[in-house]
Amino acid sequence: MSFSEILSGSEVGKQLDSMTKNERLPHAVVLESRDKTLAQKTAGEISKVFFCSGQNKPCGKCLGCMKAEKGIHPDLYRVDITDGKQSVGVGEIRSMISDCYIKPNEAVNKVYFISERMTAEAQNALLKILEEPPQNVKFVIITESSTLLLQTVRSRCTLFKLGDVSSTNENELNEKAFDAAKEIACAIPDNMELPLMLAVTKLSKDKALTQRTLEKLSEIICESIEEKYMPTGTRPQYIQDIARSLRRRSLLSLMDVVLKAQTMLSQNCNMNLLTTWLCANIRQSRHNKGGYNG
Ligand SMILES: [Zn+2]
Repeated sequence: MSFSEILSGSEVGKQLDSMTKNERLPHAVVLESRDKTLAQKTAGEISKVFFCSGQNKPCGKCLGCMKAEKGIHPDLYRVDITDGKQSVGVGEIRSMISDCYIKPNEAVNKVYFISERMTAEAQNALLKILEEPPQNVKFVIITESSTLLLQTVRSRCTLFKLGDVSSTNENELNEKAFDAAKEIACAIPDNMELPLMLAVTKLSKDKALTQRTLEKLSEIICESIEEKYMPTGTRPQYIQDIARSLRRRSLLSLMDVVLKAQTMLSQNCNMNLLTTWLCANIRQSRHNKGGYNG
């Protein structure tokens, strides 16, 4: 099967097919899709390309292709959330990194599928290996939204957005979400509790808006983290304010709070509970007491 077939003739599908044909498939990709099955299928096809021992990769007939098709190839590793946890932690990433230096079992390459739900610390640990991976090591990060990833991680990978997400409704939702996220972000450095509470409780009725707002909020926090590490002075004023008024640790902990809130939302938690939790934990991160509750 070609990528075009999997992705119903979309531009992304054609792009992936042409990269495959020219043996230019990147060593680190991010697959962004709200459709998990589609993302898994595309990731599977990528692993096939890397495991295939045939001439025209993926031939679909060799042992490598067949094992990849079934998802049972011994050189395929999944870095996923373990039982009882909300996200992939730095420990899992570190053991993956040491595994990267061990030779493949059967194929020429090793392929790692990585879950998007990583703590900020785990994502930081991932940076170096993404930049300078051992030869023949490939990474596929599968995510509902690339905003769950730190900009520094995103910039080291090639992003493929699967499925069409642009429409008027989408744009409208994006704009509303951005406004809401900005309002929350601007209230973060403020020591008054009321503005933050008002901004967050506005979300409690609309799940789709909340989901998108959390995505935008994580983008804003990512940008603030970058401003903190490498101040440009040219980013929007509110980004500069957040970067200036919060410590590095507070910003990383805020990022984790937003990621956790996204997980809670995807698990259909009660919306009022979520907004209360979010308020309390943003406040706690702001004061740099480290981590969130639970
Ligand atoms: Zn093959």
